[in-house]
Amino acid sequence: MRSSGYAVRAYAMLPAFAGPGVLALAATLTVSGLLVATGAPSASAAAGGPHVAAVVVGTVERMHLDDFAAPLPEGQDELTFVRTVDDAIQVPAGDLAHVANGTTVRVSLADTAGTRVTASGALTSDLDRTQSRDPQAGADVASVDVVAPAQADVVATGTGTAPTDVAVAAGAAPHDVTVVVAKLPGGTATMVTAADVAATISSGVNSYWSTVTGGAVGFTATAYPSVVTTTNAPCSNGGVGGSSAFWTEVAQKTGWSAGPGKHLVVYFPAFAGCGGIAGLATVGGGAGSGGQVWTNGWNSVGVIGHELGHNIGLGHSQILDCAVSGVRVLETSPTGCSPRPYADTNDIMAVSWNYQGYLNAVHLRTLGLLDATSQAAPTDNGQVVLSPLERGAGLRVLTLTDGNTHYVLEFRQPVGLDSWMSSVSGWGAAGVTVRKEFDPSQAGAGGFSSIESYVLDGDPSTPDSGFGSMYNTLPTGGWIDLADGRLGIRVESMSASGAVVDYRNGPATSDPRYVAPAQPTVSTPLGRIASGSLRVTSTGPVVPITWTWQVVTPGTNPSAAASVSTGRVATTARFALSGWSPVAYRAVAVSTDGTPVTALGVARTHYTSETNSRVVKYSRGWRPARSTGANGRTVQVSAVKGAAVTFRATSRSLGVVLACGPSYGVVAVYVDHRRVAVRNLRTPHSALVVPWATTFGSTTAHTVTIVNLSGGKLGWLAFDGIVSMV
Ligand SMILES: [Zn+2]
Repeated sequence: MRSSGYAVRAYAMLPAFAGPGVLALAATLTVSGLLVATGAPSASAAAGGPHVAAVVVGTVERMHLDDFAAPLPEGQDELTFVRTVDDAIQVPAGDLAHVANGTTVRVSLADTAGTRVTASGALTSDLDRTQSRDPQAGADVASVDVVAPAQADVVATGTGTAPTDVAVAAGAAPHDVTVVVAKLPGGTATMVTAADVAATISSGVNSYWSTVTGGAVGFTATAYPSVVTTTNAPCSNGGVGGSSAFWTEVAQKTGWSAGPGKHLVVYFPAFAGCGGIAGLATVGGGAGSGGQVWTNGWNSVGVIGHELGHNIGLGHSQILDCAVSGVRVLETSPTGCSPRPYADTNDIMAVSWNYQGYLNAVHLRTLGLLDATSQAAPTDNGQVVLSPLERGAGLRVLTLTDGNTHYVLEFRQPVGLDSWMSSVSGWGAAGVTVRKEFDPSQAGAGGFSSIESYVLDGDPSTPDSGFGSMYNTLPTGGWIDLADGRLGIRVESMSASGAVVDYRNGPATSDPRYVAPAQPTVSTPLGRIASGSLRVTSTGPVVPITWTWQVVTPGTNPSAAASVSTGRVATTARFALSGWSPVAYRAVAVSTDGTPVTALGVARTHYTSETNSRVVKYSRGWRPARSTGANGRTVQVSAVKGAAVTFRATSRSLGVVLACGPSYGVVAVYVDHRRVAVRNLRTPHSALVVPWATTFGSTTAHTVTIVNLSGGKLGWLAFDGIVSMV
């Protein structure tokens, strides 16, 4: 499901799905005490202790942990286990990245560090607290051999796999949930009863899942009549390594047994050891799966409904952040995109504690719930009218295919389960969205999971800075390229009854309806000297400058007005002591289809010393003074009221370099004999500054005069030169 840094192990780089020959090779590398089990999933182990090889046979299982206090990054919220008859061994997620849940594997462990031998001789995980919530921690895997792939008619049960219950899978029978309230070691008692939690599941949770699956998935809960006191805790210091043993203990004490469509939901009051984790769930293999859940003090549809979503094989709803040259775009290659956890806030598999929107179309596809009447998957160029997703009937999904990559479009309206969207902006949005299903073999796509969904940012001009400010719907009116232009879509119009969407399966040239999206235009960035403090160096002062430019973005709808924005960046440039130095800045704007448009601004800079007598003239009471902090280590100073310095410079932008500090006074600036500015140079601390700078329309010659308006002990004026830019 995911790759990781741990996936590359130099000493044991054997591929997943290795054949028997590879397994034999691995076996020859192991040391003493190796036993290999055969037949049914089971485990065999070397005598305990680290640095001993072993072979374990079991089913691949994953757990999703939901830390609402601090949502975990992509790939950090799912732990991978090989479950044996007795227990479960955590393995680095990357080592089994592409092995599906429910697959029976024979895993050769190069090292059993992090495990211990159970009383029955099997291995179980024995990780420290930090490692027990680290997806990349676990026993070192030398090779993985698939004994039996997950079969179509077999589902994960939370403790292994079993043949699918046909009635549950067909939606003819509801999932059967046993609810247990647990009293944990060191944990508090609770007023919340199993009947309370069962009521939440049988009503709200059942209603949600029945609605979004068209009746294919429903839940009926039964409360276990008494509180179960456990000796195992599910968490320790925020690590969830004890959860398998915890669930096993609860199952044994209540008589719960695993099976298709059978769920164990354990509620306990907020337990300090679980930190901000709201809940944990095993990840099933499909809509008929069973599984195990615990909830850390949450008796709510949002949390329990979300965890049961994991049990039936779903991951999280993520947003895809893509950028070209640092500018957000709708889509680019997988390496230019990263997922943001929980951030597709439209449905229950995202941030689910506030709102539980209708399940998105990618999750519906994962559950196998879209048929030919609800989903169009065309290969030509054409048009569809998508009914609102919430309607639960009619053509609601458009799926376009590029190799093994899919783009899935849906249309939402603020009705039904999404009614809240009409009053809550930025959490979910009415409109058309597109989600991407990655081809895991593509470069950079290995980190994306097939059970999670990734909404593209249909409005990349918004930063989507946090939950509640997510704007991902597509604009109306313009063509948007997908898959490097091999596919295209255009939202023609939207109404309460449907969205009219044009689609293209092929390059733009294949579709006479195509109108190239107007690209933004970027004006040449203009550099100018800014006022502010400067830094003295041996090759010239480093002075603040700003670059400004304009971006004109045409409306996505041809009839819409263009928008104009001003780009601005504050930076610095070195002003050369002799001659002119070049300085440049490239401004970038990116169109919605990912095309970058750039413009290069260039300028040249120069510093003129106060000692340059050809340019600079002084009147009334000036003298040179040494200053180690000045350019050239000298300045001209005067404490005479009315003392003036005049220079003539040819430039487009210029500034004066003066000292400020406790002894400095007020100066007036004249350009071509007209007073243009007054500056107070009295500051608590002494420094060299550019207190005044100006920019002309073109490179022209001007006469500038600085006059000391103060004079006296607290009225000094110190002049250190001129900075010019052309
Ligand atoms: Zn989750």
